[in-house]
Amino acid sequence: MGEFELIRRYFASAPCAAPAPGVALGIGDDCALLQLSPGEQLAVSTDSLVAGVHFPDSCDPALLGQRALACAASDLAAMGAAPLGFTLALSLPEADEAWLQGFARGLNEMAGHCGLRLIGGDTTRGPLNINITVFGRVPAGQALLRSGARPGELLCVGGWLGEAAAALPCVLGQLPVDDEAARTLCASYWTPRPQLALGQALRGLAGAAQDISDGLLADATHIARASGVALEIDLEQLPLSPALLACLPLEEARQCALAGGDDYRLLFTLAPEHLQPLREQGFEIRPLGRVRAGQGVSLLDGEGRPLPLPAGGYEHFART
Ligand code: ADP
Ligand code: MG
Repeated sequence: MGEFELIRRYFASAPCAAPAPGVALGIGDDCALLQLSPGEQLAVSTDSLVAGVHFPDSCDPALLGQRALACAASDLAAMGAAPLGFTLALSLPEADEAWLQGFARGLNEMAGHCGLRLIGGDTTRGPLNINITVFGRVPAGQALLRSGARPGELLCVGGWLGEAAAALPCVLGQLPVDDEAARTLCASYWTPRPQLALGQALRGLAGAAQDISDGLLADATHIARASGVALEIDLEQLPLSPALLACLPLEEARQCALAGGDDYRLLFTLAPEHLQPLREQGFEIRPLGRVRAGQGVSLLDGEGRPLPLPAGGYEHFART
Protein backbone atom coordinates (compact mmCIF):
# COMPACT_ATOMS: atom_id res chain seq x y z
CA MET A 1 0.00 0.00 0.00
CA GLY A 2 1.54 3.31 -1.12
CA GLU A 3 1.21 6.72 0.49
CA PHE A 4 -1.76 7.85 -1.61
CA GLU A 5 -3.65 4.57 -1.25
CA LEU A 6 -3.10 4.83 2.51
CA ILE A 7 -4.40 8.41 2.64
CA ARG A 8 -7.42 7.52 0.50
CA ARG A 9 -8.32 4.34 2.32
CA TYR A 10 -7.96 5.45 5.92
CA PHE A 11 -8.36 9.20 5.90
CA ALA A 12 -9.81 10.86 2.76
CA SER A 13 -12.75 8.43 2.63
CA ALA A 14 -13.38 8.43 6.39
CA PRO A 15 -16.68 9.79 7.73
CA CYS A 16 -14.77 12.57 9.50
CA ALA A 17 -13.53 13.82 6.11
CA ALA A 18 -17.06 14.19 4.64
CA PRO A 19 -18.19 17.65 3.45
CA ALA A 20 -19.38 19.96 6.19
CA PRO A 21 -20.50 23.57 6.63
CA GLY A 22 -17.50 25.81 7.05
CA VAL A 23 -15.25 23.53 4.98
CA ALA A 24 -15.25 24.99 1.47
CA LEU A 25 -12.57 22.54 0.25
CA GLY A 26 -11.32 19.45 2.07
CA ILE A 27 -8.67 16.78 1.40
CA GLY A 28 -7.18 16.45 -2.10
CA ASP A 29 -5.76 19.77 -3.19
CA ASP A 30 -2.68 21.69 -2.06
CA CYS A 31 -4.59 23.47 0.70
CA ALA A 32 -7.96 23.09 2.34
CA LEU A 33 -10.23 26.13 2.38
CA LEU A 34 -12.24 27.13 5.44
CA GLN A 35 -15.17 29.50 5.18
CA LEU A 36 -15.54 32.13 7.88
CA SER A 37 -18.41 34.58 8.18
CA PRO A 38 -17.79 38.33 8.45
CA GLY A 39 -16.91 39.25 12.01
CA GLU A 40 -15.41 35.85 12.85
CA GLN A 41 -11.83 35.01 13.75
CA LEU A 42 -10.04 31.71 13.05
CA ALA A 43 -8.66 29.97 16.16
CA VAL A 44 -5.67 27.71 15.35
CA SER A 45 -3.70 25.37 17.61
CA THR A 46 -1.26 22.55 16.96
CA ASP A 47 -0.21 19.60 19.15
CA SER A 48 2.32 16.82 18.70
CA LEU A 49 2.15 13.39 20.28
CA VAL A 50 5.41 11.47 20.20
CA ALA A 51 5.63 7.74 20.96
CA GLY A 52 7.49 7.10 24.21
CA VAL A 53 6.97 10.70 25.37
CA HIS A 54 3.23 11.36 25.23
CA PHE A 55 1.97 7.79 25.06
CA PRO A 56 3.44 4.31 25.60
CA ASP A 57 5.22 2.81 22.58
CA SER A 58 2.70 0.02 22.38
CA CYS A 59 -0.89 0.98 22.99
CA ASP A 60 -4.33 0.51 21.47
CA PRO A 61 -4.34 2.56 18.23
CA ALA A 62 -8.07 3.34 18.53
CA LEU A 63 -7.55 4.88 21.96
CA LEU A 64 -4.52 6.74 20.66
CA GLY A 65 -6.57 8.18 17.78
CA GLN A 66 -9.20 9.40 20.20
CA ARG A 67 -6.73 10.86 22.64
CA ALA A 68 -4.61 12.61 20.00
CA LEU A 69 -7.58 14.52 18.63
CA ALA A 70 -9.10 15.19 22.06
CA CYS A 71 -5.89 16.80 23.37
CA ALA A 72 -5.74 19.07 20.35
CA ALA A 73 -9.45 19.96 20.38
CA SER A 74 -9.25 20.91 24.05
CA ASP A 75 -7.36 24.07 23.03
CA LEU A 76 -10.36 25.17 20.94
CA ALA A 77 -12.57 24.65 23.99
CA ALA A 78 -10.21 26.76 26.07
CA MET A 79 -10.58 29.67 23.63
CA GLY A 80 -14.35 29.39 23.42
CA ALA A 81 -14.06 28.54 19.72
CA ALA A 82 -16.60 26.50 17.79
CA PRO A 83 -14.96 23.51 16.07
CA LEU A 84 -14.41 23.57 12.29
CA GLY A 85 -11.73 21.17 11.15
CA PHE A 86 -8.32 19.60 11.71
CA THR A 87 -5.26 18.47 9.80
CA LEU A 88 -3.30 15.32 10.60
CA ALA A 89 0.44 15.03 9.99
CA LEU A 90 1.34 11.42 10.58
CA SER A 91 4.76 9.85 10.66
CA LEU A 92 4.61 6.03 10.71
CA PRO A 93 7.34 3.37 10.82
CA GLU A 94 5.25 1.13 8.51
CA ALA A 95 1.82 0.98 6.87
CA ASP A 96 0.40 -1.57 9.31
CA GLU A 97 -3.22 -2.06 8.25
CA ALA A 98 -4.53 -3.24 11.61
CA TRP A 99 -2.93 -0.25 13.31
CA LEU A 100 -4.26 2.20 10.69
CA GLN A 101 -7.76 0.76 10.92
CA GLY A 102 -7.83 1.11 14.69
CA PHE A 103 -6.30 4.58 14.66
CA ALA A 104 -8.75 5.84 12.01
CA ARG A 105 -11.67 4.36 13.96
CA GLY A 106 -10.66 6.19 17.14
CA LEU A 107 -10.00 9.39 15.23
CA ASN A 108 -13.46 9.22 13.60
CA GLU A 109 -15.12 8.62 16.90
CA MET A 110 -13.54 11.65 18.57
CA ALA A 111 -14.04 13.80 15.44
CA GLY A 112 -17.74 12.95 15.55
CA HIS A 113 -17.92 13.73 19.24
CA CYS A 114 -16.18 17.11 18.74
CA GLY A 115 -17.84 18.08 15.46
CA LEU A 116 -14.45 18.43 13.73
CA ARG A 117 -13.80 17.54 10.06
CA LEU A 118 -10.50 16.15 8.76
CA ILE A 119 -9.46 18.63 6.04
CA GLY A 120 -5.90 17.62 5.18
CA GLY A 121 -2.58 16.45 6.45
CA ASP A 122 0.72 14.86 5.58
CA THR A 123 1.89 11.26 5.67
CA THR A 124 5.54 10.22 5.94
CA ARG A 125 7.61 7.23 7.02
CA GLY A 126 9.46 7.67 10.29
CA PRO A 127 9.19 7.13 14.03
CA LEU A 128 5.55 7.17 15.23
CA ASN A 129 4.57 10.80 15.63
CA ILE A 130 1.14 12.39 15.42
CA ASN A 131 0.73 16.08 14.81
CA ILE A 132 -2.75 17.57 14.77
CA THR A 133 -3.71 21.16 14.01
CA VAL A 134 -7.23 22.21 14.91
CA PHE A 135 -9.23 25.11 13.50
CA GLY A 136 -12.23 26.77 15.06
CA ARG A 137 -14.27 29.92 14.67
CA VAL A 138 -15.01 32.56 17.23
CA PRO A 139 -16.85 35.90 16.99
CA ALA A 140 -14.21 38.64 16.65
CA GLY A 141 -12.97 39.82 20.02
CA GLN A 142 -14.84 37.15 22.03
CA ALA A 143 -12.18 34.46 22.37
CA LEU A 144 -11.43 33.43 25.96
CA LEU A 145 -7.89 34.48 26.85
CA ARG A 146 -5.60 33.76 29.78
CA SER A 147 -5.29 37.45 30.46
CA GLY A 148 -8.76 38.56 31.57
CA ALA A 149 -9.03 37.39 35.22
CA ARG A 150 -10.22 40.09 37.65
CA PRO A 151 -10.11 40.22 41.45
CA GLY A 152 -13.44 39.15 42.93
CA GLU A 153 -14.01 36.34 40.43
CA LEU A 154 -14.22 32.68 41.39
CA LEU A 155 -11.61 30.25 40.09
CA CYS A 156 -13.52 27.29 38.63
CA VAL A 157 -12.92 24.02 36.85
CA GLY A 158 -15.25 22.09 34.53
CA GLY A 159 -15.53 18.73 36.27
CA TRP A 160 -13.17 16.40 38.16
CA LEU A 161 -9.38 16.67 38.38
CA GLY A 162 -6.60 14.14 38.81
CA GLU A 163 -8.12 11.03 37.23
CA ALA A 164 -5.82 10.91 34.20
CA ALA A 165 -2.70 11.39 36.33
CA ALA A 166 -3.85 8.64 38.68
CA ALA A 167 -4.32 6.34 35.67
CA LEU A 168 -0.67 6.58 34.60
CA PRO A 169 0.57 3.42 36.41
CA CYS A 170 -2.22 1.47 34.67
CA VAL A 171 -1.57 3.14 31.32
CA LEU A 172 2.12 2.22 31.60
CA GLY A 173 1.24 -1.38 32.49
CA GLN A 174 2.69 -1.14 36.01
CA LEU A 175 -0.67 -1.82 37.65
CA PRO A 176 -3.55 -4.01 36.47
CA VAL A 177 -6.86 -2.45 35.46
CA ASP A 178 -8.93 -4.76 37.59
CA ASP A 179 -11.97 -2.84 38.79
CA GLU A 180 -14.57 -0.31 37.74
CA ALA A 181 -12.79 2.65 39.37
CA ALA A 182 -9.51 1.88 37.60
CA ARG A 183 -11.38 1.59 34.29
CA THR A 184 -12.92 5.03 34.90
CA LEU A 185 -9.47 6.54 35.50
CA CYS A 186 -8.06 4.94 32.34
CA ALA A 187 -10.99 6.28 30.32
CA SER A 188 -10.17 9.77 31.59
CA TYR A 189 -6.62 9.33 30.32
CA TRP A 190 -7.39 7.78 26.93
CA THR A 191 -10.64 9.48 26.00
CA PRO A 192 -10.78 12.94 27.54
CA ARG A 193 -13.85 14.89 26.43
CA PRO A 194 -12.86 18.36 25.21
CA GLN A 195 -15.24 20.82 26.88
CA LEU A 196 -16.23 22.59 23.66
CA ALA A 197 -19.80 23.43 24.69
CA LEU A 198 -18.66 24.81 28.03
CA GLY A 199 -15.99 26.95 26.36
CA GLN A 200 -18.54 28.50 24.01
CA ALA A 201 -21.00 29.05 26.87
CA LEU A 202 -18.28 30.93 28.78
CA ARG A 203 -17.84 33.53 26.01
CA GLY A 204 -18.63 36.96 27.42
CA LEU A 205 -18.84 35.51 30.98
CA ALA A 206 -15.43 34.10 31.96
CA GLY A 207 -12.66 36.54 32.77
CA ALA A 208 -9.85 34.20 31.77
CA ALA A 209 -9.74 30.57 30.66
CA GLN A 210 -7.39 27.81 29.59
CA ASP A 211 -7.38 24.04 29.56
CA ILE A 212 -5.47 22.04 32.16
CA SER A 213 -2.90 19.86 30.43
CA ASP A 214 0.18 20.18 32.64
CA GLY A 215 -1.54 20.14 36.05
CA LEU A 216 -3.75 22.59 37.96
CA LEU A 217 -0.99 24.47 39.79
CA ALA A 218 1.25 24.82 36.77
CA ASP A 219 -1.57 25.95 34.50
CA ALA A 220 -3.08 28.32 37.08
CA THR A 221 0.30 30.07 37.09
CA HIS A 222 -0.23 30.95 33.42
CA ILE A 223 -3.55 32.70 34.14
CA ALA A 224 -2.12 34.49 37.19
CA ARG A 225 0.85 35.78 35.20
CA ALA A 226 -1.06 36.71 32.04
CA SER A 227 -3.80 38.47 34.03
CA GLY A 228 -1.51 40.10 36.61
CA VAL A 229 -3.54 38.70 39.52
CA ALA A 230 -3.15 36.31 42.45
CA LEU A 231 -5.05 33.00 42.42
CA GLU A 232 -5.98 31.20 45.62
CA ILE A 233 -6.88 27.50 45.55
CA ASP A 234 -8.67 25.88 48.50
CA LEU A 235 -7.24 22.43 49.15
CA GLU A 236 -10.56 21.20 50.50
CA GLN A 237 -12.45 22.30 47.40
CA LEU A 238 -10.38 20.25 44.94
CA PRO A 239 -12.88 18.29 42.83
CA LEU A 240 -11.90 14.66 43.52
CA SER A 241 -14.11 12.05 41.87
CA PRO A 242 -15.45 8.94 43.64
CA ALA A 243 -13.36 6.80 41.25
CA LEU A 244 -10.18 8.70 42.15
CA LEU A 245 -10.87 8.39 45.86
CA ALA A 246 -11.63 4.68 45.44
CA CYS A 247 -8.18 4.12 43.91
CA LEU A 248 -5.95 6.40 46.00
CA PRO A 249 -5.67 7.68 49.58
CA LEU A 250 -6.77 11.33 49.99
CA GLU A 251 -3.24 12.79 50.06
CA GLU A 252 -2.22 11.09 46.82
CA ALA A 253 -5.53 11.94 45.17
CA ARG A 254 -4.96 15.61 46.00
CA GLN A 255 -1.43 15.43 44.62
CA CYS A 256 -2.81 14.07 41.31
CA ALA A 257 -5.39 16.87 41.15
CA LEU A 258 -2.85 19.59 41.94
CA ALA A 259 0.21 18.52 40.01
CA GLY A 260 -0.77 15.65 37.71
CA GLY A 261 -1.36 16.48 34.07
CA ASP A 262 -3.60 15.35 31.22
CA ASP A 263 -6.92 16.50 32.72
CA TYR A 264 -8.05 18.51 29.66
CA ARG A 265 -10.68 20.29 31.78
CA LEU A 266 -11.27 24.00 31.50
CA LEU A 267 -9.87 26.23 34.23
CA PHE A 268 -11.52 29.64 34.25
CA THR A 269 -12.45 32.65 36.33
CA LEU A 270 -16.06 33.73 36.66
CA ALA A 271 -17.98 36.45 38.48
CA PRO A 272 -20.02 34.64 41.21
CA GLU A 273 -23.38 35.68 39.72
CA HIS A 274 -22.70 33.68 36.53
CA LEU A 275 -22.23 30.38 38.34
CA GLN A 276 -25.84 29.35 38.93
CA PRO A 277 -27.17 30.21 35.44
CA LEU A 278 -24.40 28.11 33.85
CA ARG A 279 -25.14 25.21 36.19
CA GLU A 280 -28.81 25.46 35.24
CA GLN A 281 -27.73 24.97 31.61
CA GLY A 282 -26.32 21.61 32.71
CA PHE A 283 -22.62 22.48 33.00
CA GLU A 284 -20.73 20.78 35.79
CA ILE A 285 -18.75 23.67 37.26
CA ARG A 286 -16.74 23.40 40.46
CA PRO A 287 -15.39 26.54 42.13
CA LEU A 288 -12.07 25.80 43.83
CA GLY A 289 -10.75 29.21 44.76
CA ARG A 290 -10.75 32.88 43.89
CA VAL A 291 -8.97 35.75 42.14
CA ARG A 292 -7.34 38.42 44.28
CA ALA A 293 -5.19 41.45 43.62
CA GLY A 294 -1.52 40.46 43.73
CA GLN A 295 0.48 37.79 41.95
CA GLY A 296 1.22 34.08 41.97
CA VAL A 297 -0.75 30.98 42.91
CA SER A 298 -1.29 29.91 46.50
CA LEU A 299 -2.86 26.88 48.12
CA LEU A 300 -4.94 27.37 51.28
CA ASP A 301 -5.99 24.94 54.01
CA GLY A 302 -9.51 24.73 55.51
CA GLU A 303 -8.83 27.78 57.70
CA GLY A 304 -7.50 29.86 54.82
CA ARG A 305 -3.84 29.46 55.82
CA PRO A 306 -1.27 29.12 53.03
CA LEU A 307 0.24 25.66 52.50
CA PRO A 308 3.56 24.78 50.89
CA LEU A 309 3.14 24.08 47.18
CA PRO A 310 3.96 20.59 45.95
CA ALA A 311 6.42 20.41 43.07
CA GLY A 312 4.79 19.52 39.84
CA GLY A 313 3.53 20.28 36.43
CA TYR A 314 5.18 18.70 33.44
CA GLU A 315 7.64 20.74 31.44
CA HIS A 316 9.67 19.37 28.53
CA PHE A 317 13.35 20.42 28.71
CA ALA A 318 12.92 21.43 32.39
CA ARG A 319 16.28 21.49 34.20
CA THR A 320 16.48 18.65 36.70
P1 ADP B 1 1.25 17.95 -0.89
O1 ADP B 1 2.19 17.30 -1.82
O2 ADP B 1 0.53 19.14 -1.41
O3 ADP B 1 1.83 18.15 0.48
P2 ADP B 1 0.25 15.38 -0.32
O4 ADP B 1 0.54 14.64 -1.57
O5 ADP B 1 1.16 15.24 0.83
O6 ADP B 1 0.05 16.91 -0.69
O7 ADP B 1 -1.23 15.00 0.18
C1 ADP B 1 -2.30 14.89 -0.75
C2 ADP B 1 -3.57 15.31 -0.07
O8 ADP B 1 -3.85 14.42 1.01
C3 ADP B 1 -3.51 16.72 0.53
O9 ADP B 1 -4.78 17.32 0.36
C4 ADP B 1 -3.22 16.45 1.97
O10 ADP B 1 -3.75 17.48 2.80
C5 ADP B 1 -3.94 15.13 2.22
N1 ADP B 1 -3.33 14.29 3.27
C6 ADP B 1 -2.08 13.77 3.34
N2 ADP B 1 -1.90 13.02 4.44
C7 ADP B 1 -3.08 13.06 5.12
C8 ADP B 1 -3.55 12.50 6.35
N3 ADP B 1 -2.77 11.73 7.14
N4 ADP B 1 -4.81 12.78 6.72
C9 ADP B 1 -5.59 13.55 5.95
N5 ADP B 1 -5.23 14.08 4.80
C10 ADP B 1 -3.98 13.86 4.36
MG1 MG C 1 2.59 16.47 1.69
